[in-house]
Amino acid sequence: MKRPQKFIFVTGGVLSSIGKGISSASIGMLMEARGLTVTMIKMDPYLNVDPGTMSPFQHGEVFVLDDGAETDLDLGHYSRFVQSATFTRKNSFTTGRIYDSVIRRERAGGYLGETVQVIPHVTDEIKDHIRAGSQNADLAIIEVGGTVGDIESLPFLEAIRQFGQDVGSENVLYVHLTLVPYIGAAGELKTKPTQHSVKDLREIGIQPDLLLCRSDRALPVDVKKKIGLFCNLKPDQVFSAKDVQSIYELPLYFHEEGLDEKISEILGIWTGKPDLKSWNKMVSVVRSPSANVSIGVVGKYTDWKDTYKSLSEALVHGGVANNAKVEVEFIDSEALEKGDVSSLKSVSAILVPGGFGERGVEGKIRAIQYARENRIPFFGICLGLQLAVIEFARNVCGIKQASSAEFTPNGSQNVVDLMESQKAVRDKGGTMRLGSYDCEILESHSNQKTKAFLAYGSKEIQERHRHRYEVVDTYRARFQEAGLIVSGRHLAADKKTDLVEMIEIPAHPWFLGCQFHPEFLSKPLRPHPLFSHFIGAALEFQRKKKA
Ligand code: GLN
Repeated sequence: MKRPQKFIFVTGGVLSSIGKGISSASIGMLMEARGLTVTMIKMDPYLNVDPGTMSPFQHGEVFVLDDGAETDLDLGHYSRFVQSATFTRKNSFTTGRIYDSVIRRERAGGYLGETVQVIPHVTDEIKDHIRAGSQNADLAIIEVGGTVGDIESLPFLEAIRQFGQDVGSENVLYVHLTLVPYIGAAGELKTKPTQHSVKDLREIGIQPDLLLCRSDRALPVDVKKKIGLFCNLKPDQVFSAKDVQSIYELPLYFHEEGLDEKISEILGIWTGKPDLKSWNKMVSVVRSPSANVSIGVVGKYTDWKDTYKSLSEALVHGGVANNAKVEVEFIDSEALEKGDVSSLKSVSAILVPGGFGERGVEGKIRAIQYARENRIPFFGICLGLQLAVIEFARNVCGIKQASSAEFTPNGSQNVVDLMESQKAVRDKGGTMRLGSYDCEILESHSNQKTKAFLAYGSKEIQERHRHRYEVVDTYRARFQEAGLIVSGRHLAADKKTDLVEMIEIPAHPWFLGCQFHPEFLSKPLRPHPLFSHFIGAALEFQRKKKA
C-alpha cells in the first residue's frame, strides 16, 4: 500500500532572519537521511511574481533553477541540504504569482460568475500550488516566508490551516520558529516574544506541534516547560535552535536534540535512524580543516553577504574538497579603481563573481590584470568572465577601447555584446538567458588538457545561466592567437548559435572564466569541481609562495 503523503509547514515568529530557511532545510536533510523522498516549497508573501526583478540588496541572491525559474535564496539552502530533490518553478511561489493566476482565471470566466474572494479562491489557489509542488515526494516541507503577524502572510496561513483539515491532522505537522533572547541585564532567557507569537498563530487557528527556539544557548528544561505551558505543548515539543558555527552543523544539532525522531513519531513515519555518516565527515572538515587559504572576492562593497550566498557556500565546499578552510577577503572594487592594489597581495587567489551594472567594473578589471600578470589563480564567473575577456582584449590584444555593450551601448570595440537573438528585443529591455544549458568542453589544447576538462573529467556538462550578454564571436580567433582559449561552448540545436561558455589561459597556472553560475550546483556533499580545482590551485599557489 502506498504510504500517505506527509506535510510539514514551517512558520516564523518574532523576527525575520532567525534562520527559518536553514532550519527547514535541516529538517529536510534529516528526513531524507531517514530514507524518505523529500521535497521543499517556499511561499513568499510579497507581490512580485518572482524575485527576478527585485534588488539583491533588498532581497538577497536570486537563486536560479534548471528550468530557468528565478527563486528565493532559500531554494539555495534546500538544494544544498537535500541531496536528491529536483526543484522547479513549482517549488517557489509568491503572493504575486497566486494573484496573477486567480485574476487570469477570473478574466477567462473560470469562476462562472462567482464573487472572487481571498477565502476560498485565493486560499484554494495556494493549496493547489502546494499540491503541485509536493508531487512525488513522501514528505513535503513548506516554508511560509515572512513573520506571523504580518498582514501579507495571512492568506498563506489560512491556506495551510485549511490544508491540515483537507489531508487529515495525522498527515501534517506545524513547526514554528521563534527567538528566545538572552537578556544579559536580567541574566535570563526571555520567553515572552515566543508566547506572543504562538498566541498570534493560535488566534488564526494553527496550534504548532513543535517549536524551534533560536537562542544563543541551549534551552534548559525549565524554560522549555514554561514555554510549553503557555503554548499548549509538552516540553519535549519545544526544541532549542542554538547558534552554531557553521550552518551545516544545524541538522546534527537538531538530531542530537531528537527533532527528527519526534517528527517521525508525530507523523507516524516508520523509518530507521538517519544515515549521517557523510554529513558528519563533511562537518568535521569544516570544524577542523588541515589548512587555511585566503581568497580575494572582488565586488562592489554593497554587494556582499546575502547577494553572494551560493558563491560563499560553494567556496566553503571547495575548501572541504581540499580539507581546507576558505577565508574570503572581500576586496572593494571601487578602492582598486583608485589604484590601491595592496589588498590583492595577501590573497592566494582572486575571484570576480557575477554582477550587473557599470559601477566598480574598472576595479574588477584591474584585479584581473593583476591576477593574470602575477600568475595568481583567477576564477571569473559570468560578469567575471566578461571582464576577463575585456582585460585580455585591452592589455594583451591591444584593443584599447574593448568593453561590453552593458557599459558602452554604442562602443565601437565591444568584445561583449547582447546576443543576436536579443538585439531585436533591445528596446523592450531584452530578456535573460536563464536556466540550464548544455556546454561542450574542449578536452585539450596544444597537447595539454584544459583546466575545464581536468575539473569536470567530461566533455558534456550542463550548467545554469542568468545573463544577457555574451562574448562576441568575431574576436575569438584573435584571443586564441594571443593565448586565451575557449574551453567550453554551447552549440544550440540549430548549430547556428555557438556561444562562449568557458575561457582559460593555458600558459597561466589557473586562469578560468565561465559564463554560467557553477555556485548554484555546488553542495557540501558534492563540491562543484570548478570550485574544488580553484581552491586546489590557491593552495598550490600558497605553498609555492611560502617555499
Ligand atoms: N551583467 C552581465 C550580463 O547580463 C553579467 C550577469 C551576471 O554576472 N550574472 O550578461
